[in-house]
Amino acid sequence: MTTSSHDFKSRFSFNSQTQTELKYCTYCDTTIRGRSDKRFCNDACRYAYHNEINKEPFTLVNSINRKLKRNRKILQTLLLKSKSKLEISRDDLLNNGFNFRYFTHINKDKPDRVFQCCYDFGYQILKGTKIVVVQEICEI
Ligand SMILES: [Zn+2]
Repeated sequence: MTTSSHDFKSRFSFNSQTQTELKYCTYCDTTIRGRSDKRFCNDACRYAYHNEINKEPFTLVNSINRKLKRNRKILQTLLLKSKSKLEISRDDLLNNGFNFRYFTHINKDKPDRVFQCCYDFGYQILKGTKIVVVQEICEI
C-alpha cells in the first residue's frame, strides 16, 4: 500500500453512465458499493488500514525496545547452540551485534554473582573479557 495516495480524504470520480458518485476503498482502492459514507470495501480493509496507521512510530522508546529485543535474540541464538550455559568472549558478543549498553534488569543468584538480563536471557561478566550467558537466572 502506498500511504501517499491513501489519506483520510476519500477520492471521488463520476461514472459517466449513471452519474452516481463512485468511491474507492481507502485501503485497497477498489470501488465501494453501498452507502456513500463508506470508506472501506470490507472489514478486512478497515482493520488493515487502522493497523498500519496505528503502527508505533520511530520513537526513543521503540528504538530502545528494538535494541533490547535484538540483544535478547543474540543471547538466545548463542545459548541454543550450547546447552544451558555458554562461555563467550566480550569481542565475540560484540561481533554478533550485541550492545552492552542495553539490558532490562539485574538479577543475582548469589550476593557476588550479578547477571545483566535482556528479558529472560542474561550474562555475567567474569574477570578479563569472559562472559557467561545464561537463561534461568533472569526469570523474574
Ligand atoms: Zn478495500
